[in-house]
Amino acid sequence: MSESTPWVVCKFGGTSVSSRARWDTIAEVVRTHRNEGRHPFLVCSALQGISDQLEVLVREATDGDPRPTLNTIRDRHRALAADLEVDAETTLNEGFERLESLTEEIMQEDSPSPRQRAAVMASGELLSTRLGVAYLSAQGVPVEWLDAREFLRAKDDANVPPRRQYLAATCASHSDPVLQSHLNDNPDTLYLTQGFIASNALGETVLLGRGGSDTSAAHFAAKLQAERLEIWTDVPGMFTANPSEVPSARLLRRLGYDEAQELATMGARVLHPRCLGPVKRHRIPLHIRSTEDPKVDGTIVAGDGPDVGPHVKAISAKDEVTAVSMDTLGMWQEVGFLADVFQIFKHHGLSVDLVATSEANVTVTLDPQANALDADVLDRLLHDLNQYCDAELIRSCAVVSLVGRHIRSLLSDLGPAFEVFDEKKVHLVTQAASDLNMSFVVDEEQAPRLVRELHAQFFGAKAPDAIFGPRWQELVDSVDADGRQPDAWWRDRREDLLTLADEQSPRYVYSEATIREKSDDVHALEAIEQPFYAIKANPHPDVLRLLEEEGVGFECVSPGELDRVFEAVPDIDPERVLFQPNFAAPEEYAEAFERGVHVTLDNVQPLVERLAIFANEEIFVRVDPGEGHGHHRHVRTAGAQSKFGVVPAELERLRAAADRAGTSVVGLHVHVGSGITDEDTWADLVDFLASLATDFPDVRTLNVGGGLGVPDRPGAAPVDLDSLNDVLNEAAARHPQYTLWMEPGRYLVAEAGVLLAQVTQTKAKGPVHYIGLDTGMNSLIRPALYGAYHEIANLSRLGDALSVTADVVGPICETGDVLGHNRQLPDTDPGDVLLVATTGAYGASMANHYNLRPPAEEVLLSDD
Ligand code: PLP
Repeated sequence: MSESTPWVVCKFGGTSVSSRARWDTIAEVVRTHRNEGRHPFLVCSALQGISDQLEVLVREATDGDPRPTLNTIRDRHRALAADLEVDAETTLNEGFERLESLTEEIMQEDSPSPRQRAAVMASGELLSTRLGVAYLSAQGVPVEWLDAREFLRAKDDANVPPRRQYLAATCASHSDPVLQSHLNDNPDTLYLTQGFIASNALGETVLLGRGGSDTSAAHFAAKLQAERLEIWTDVPGMFTANPSEVPSARLLRRLGYDEAQELATMGARVLHPRCLGPVKRHRIPLHIRSTEDPKVDGTIVAGDGPDVGPHVKAISAKDEVTAVSMDTLGMWQEVGFLADVFQIFKHHGLSVDLVATSEANVTVTLDPQANALDADVLDRLLHDLNQYCDAELIRSCAVVSLVGRHIRSLLSDLGPAFEVFDEKKVHLVTQAASDLNMSFVVDEEQAPRLVRELHAQFFGAKAPDAIFGPRWQELVDSVDADGRQPDAWWRDRREDLLTLADEQSPRYVYSEATIREKSDDVHALEAIEQPFYAIKANPHPDVLRLLEEEGVGFECVSPGELDRVFEAVPDIDPERVLFQPNFAAPEEYAEAFERGVHVTLDNVQPLVERLAIFANEEIFVRVDPGEGHGHHRHVRTAGAQSKFGVVPAELERLRAAADRAGTSVVGLHVHVGSGITDEDTWADLVDFLASLATDFPDVRTLNVGGGLGVPDRPGAAPVDLDSLNDVLNEAAARHPQYTLWMEPGRYLVAEAGVLLAQVTQTKAKGPVHYIGLDTGMNSLIRPALYGAYHEIANLSRLGDALSVTADVVGPICETGDVLGHNRQLPDTDPGDVLLVATTGAYGASMANHYNLRPPAEEVLLSDD
């Protein structure tokens, strides 16, 4: 190493310094940097959990017995010393003694001063770095322990309250030629110092705030004018969403400083937001790496790079947020209203995060990380605000943000993404002046699902590239390189499927085993007395026979569907069949009564005008609850925009007509849409129908419809049948007088089906590649109709590297004849068999002969 050897500052977090294996990784990192011609400088945190223990110790020193915690802290360090095979006494005693005497000093006080608190908290880093130095030198590394407090000086600002001065101090970040030349005197020595701690002008210990080790490392990187800063932690970088909530989140390989700042501030906890200022100022690239998986390249935060236009890079969520809504009419054309209310926030020491204003309302959020939001403070705040307006607290909110660049110019593309807000209450929307984020404040319990749905919208189909790396799942569970779920049934049946495609293409293939599995799932819903299969999803006779064997009934919407059921299963008990048409000719009802099936009416008019047809019959009535749900506007089947159902206000008229005809209403029905993943939907519908049923004394059954969603793309949220079971059981317990029915279509068959099609031609037009198949929207119209996403794989080359990004298209003369846009596929040639997944529902049943091209034929694949 020489004077001109560039520095690399490496910061290791709590988990990275808590075991011998991790210290071996640190030694390896040091070796690699040296071999590559860099001079490493290490900044270390306290052992994992020790800072929390030290906080407890401070509390107990004035308010209890600190000795057990002191022992725990000592034992943790001694245990690691034993693991590292270093002498605990010589390495740790001085630090332990200092901690003991500080604790005794605090025990004499009523409450610890910020100075004392800082001195105790600093012990974690002082002890961990002593252990690290002892271990590395025992490994033969020439290493020197540096006291960070000698080099990092806190800014002296008399206006900052003492608490902040000691516990959340700030330092200036400058190049430090004196330190550089001091360290360059011994170029072969490795320097190791503490994160989190610094000193003030009096030489006392101060802290840089919880999580401040990243900031310390950034200051050292600035001082040394390092070639790069590496933050080593337990995750390999920043992701497109929090991986513990969204396992399909993608590693972000590159971020600009501002984007990383935005993400760190909006809730991603990998980096402390304050560490980005110094590295941005000195243009030092920051690399995030994981000691758990040091081979993964991680995230590089550097200059903004080429402007690749507007895009979303991540979905973040921050919870435990409190919103304050301030209603006033006095604000209109008033001068100074905002100044007055913001003065009140300042007066109470509260920092405001997001703000939205209209003429009659101002809503702001308070971030718990920046504010101590105890009840007293908030009460006083409300009291003062109420002098100017009607103020109200909205507790337990979450801020969900789209983070990226030029978000404003993306507004038109955000259309489909906004559909996920359909069923959620949004308290506030803001779009950052920096154009780096757009944020939505929602109820906290909505946030995880919202993040998953938004993530699926923006990143579900995204191909890996220079910015978006592998998915979290791939990194931890070795999912296929393309991020697809490895457990789809069709992977195991590849050979059989290729044989079937060879015999005939295009072809729909349905897995018998998967249909049985899904039927078991539905039967496991304890509160549902009878499930009915909505045969419109897939009326193939073999599918109907299979489901009949499984004990499922059938829901039909046309005489044709009724014929199909009775042809496929001639002996079926009509009690297991529903006829629920919409805008049907009156004669259709008459025929259905003759067959003895259950009939559902969804309009009053036929009953009023054709009383004779309904005379002395039993009917169900489909009600419109006023609000639809589902994956696309066209599949939401409630609300004024939808043609289905009788609005509650009309039920009285219907009841009068039924009485006149001697018709008894024995059941109420509702179906609100398709592809629904919120389990509460159906439990709420039970309550809704039960509330109406009180006016219909003969009602025994409540049918809450279908619509159970299945994940259509990697990372999409499935409906959780266990929690559906729980909420339905609770709903059934609230209304024990009724039996409950459901009528899923998609859930029973979607994942069981695949469409196999042969590649006819490929083509490149400028930057766009096309892979053409022998069928398209004539077999599968959902992508063209709903923008539906279906996973597509090259079955002939399953497992080959994904080298092409292409639009997968059919032979139909329509520009919309596209089965998948921008799909990552292996090199694909004419004759290859492509598989379009999750096409068992609304695939063949919606197929057509457009262009006189016959759609794919269907075949059931048996269990062996
Ligand atoms: N019930 C009725 C009345 C429907 O209209 C539909 C679908 O349109 C369903 C059930 C089945 O819906 P899904 O296939 O989403 O479960």
